Amino acid sequence: MTKPRRIYLLSPKDYSPETIAVAFAKTSRSPQPFDEIAAELNDERSARFHEKWVVGYGHASVAEHAVLHVALENVSRLAIETIEGNRLASYTEKSTRYQQWDADDFYLPDELAGHALEPAFTRTVQDLFSTYLECIPRVKTWLAEFVPRGEGESQVAFERRLAPGAVDICRFLLPAASLANVGMTINARALEYALCKLLSAPLAEVRAIGEQLREAGQMETPTLIKYAACNDYLLAAAESMAQHSQRIPDALEDSSDFHLMAYDADGQARVLAAVLFRFGHAQTFQACYDYVDSLSPAEQASLAEALMAERGKFDQPLREFEYAQMTFEAVMDQGAYFEFKRHRMMTQTPQPLTADLGFALPAGITAAGCEGQYLEIMHRAGALYEVLYAWNPAVASYVIPNGYHRRVLFTMNLRQVFHFCHLRGASNAHFSIRRVAYQMAEAVTQAYPLLGKYLDLPAGETWQSIEAQHFRAINVR
Ligand SMILES: Cc1cc2nc3c(=O)[nH]c(=O)nc-3n(C[C@H](O)[C@H](O)[C@H](O)COP(=O)(O)OP(=O)(O)OC[C@H]3O[C@@H](n4cnc5c(N)ncnc54)[C@H](O)[C@@H]3O)c2cc1C
Repeated sequence: MTKPRRIYLLSPKDYSPETIAVAFAKTSRSPQPFDEIAAELNDERSARFHEKWVVGYGHASVAEHAVLHVALENVSRLAIETIEGNRLASYTEKSTRYQQWDADDFYLPDELAGHALEPAFTRTVQDLFSTYLECIPRVKTWLAEFVPRGEGESQVAFERRLAPGAVDICRFLLPAASLANVGMTINARALEYALCKLLSAPLAEVRAIGEQLREAGQMETPTLIKYAACNDYLLAAAESMAQHSQRIPDALEDSSDFHLMAYDADGQARVLAAVLFRFGHAQTFQACYDYVDSLSPAEQASLAEALMAERGKFDQPLREFEYAQMTFEAVMDQGAYFEFKRHRMMTQTPQPLTADLGFALPAGITAAGCEGQYLEIMHRAGALYEVLYAWNPAVASYVIPNGYHRRVLFTMNLRQVFHFCHLRGASNAHFSIRRVAYQMAEAVTQAYPLLGKYLDLPAGETWQSIEAQHFRAINVR
């Protein structure tokens, strides 16, 4: 008789994460059911198993079955970049769009405590916050002039509805030292590498987070992460490459802030051929590719149409869209980058925060009569950055507000382009990242017109129209 199918959970309420990982690992050699294997385990046996197999023999994938949910509170947004710099994890963090920061919600870097530059840092960051808090009600008053009030909507409800719009505009003032909370779900294998990166970071705050996180993680996964440590390779590569990069002349002036640097010239043909390969019979990929290549442009267009016609708004394109790869270089404000970095299905290389690439001036700041104070404090933060940079480049990043620009290199595939443009081009997304999504869509549509035309962004807008509507100046120096 066929054995009965069983599908059930090994609940973390019953077993520790390390025991669950061992119960799954043992199925490789044992014919026993999972719950029987788990029932024979305890923390000590699980630890011995992991020491032997995961640590000793390097069977690291076993650690992926041990999952932790970590709450991190009052960490700087600068530190969050390292915390979230791990692709194989899930995060939710305090939003600069749905929450307002209080005046003292910032981190004073350990490196600065007692240093001659501490008062200047504290004063500048406090002034950024006070400008942020002063501008919000003024921007709200300006928004109230043209946002229609709903019938029967109370003043309180109306103001609550205006708040996100005002915060979206004023968030350009928030410095990287702003404190936030982030929840992270991560498996022990990814956590071990995350800890190496945290413990190897140049900032004292980030290293301290690494220590605390290792301590907290060891309460649930005592064996799997206990060898996580500062990594000499990471330190040496950072130091030697920073030195080498000084030989390259600066090229700060650039007429465009978005470039498609490289892409698979035959990316469309590869995607179409891969889809035919998937749904074909026993043809080789080369045969599918040659077939697509033999089609006229009109025939290729109708093949693309047949592939995309039934796709709904929330349907991901088929995985074969991943066969077209692109590399971009973009300059975006730090607020946009903070959202951009959350997209894990790409390779991203951001440069450190800087004041050298100027900052954006949102139109709402000017319209609300706040331009003078905005420019004054943004310039002052940029000037302090230069002073701090000469002393400690890593610490200098804390003072950079969200409105300053940053250069990012990234490689992604066409499937992720669809996802990114859908999510970040949507009309409810922040205007800074919408501008990036439309720039990307424009470049991709030129490179891959047959498939790019199916990118779903709201019609009738361009990155230029978004820029014209939302920015008084895109690059103030
Ligand atoms: C309206 C809106 C409000 C938001 N508010 C907040 C907020 O307040 N706080 C906040 O922190 N974030 C917020 N975000 C960010 C959002 O939750 C995403 O984390 C972020 O946009 C990255 O996109 P993504 O998760 O779709 O995945 P990407 O990293 O871009 O990955 C692409 C796709 O791969 C798949 N994928 C990737 N990783 C996993 C995984 N681990 N498990 C399963 N599938 C995976 C998913 O299908 C995903 O869509 C908001 C986004 C929107 C659109």
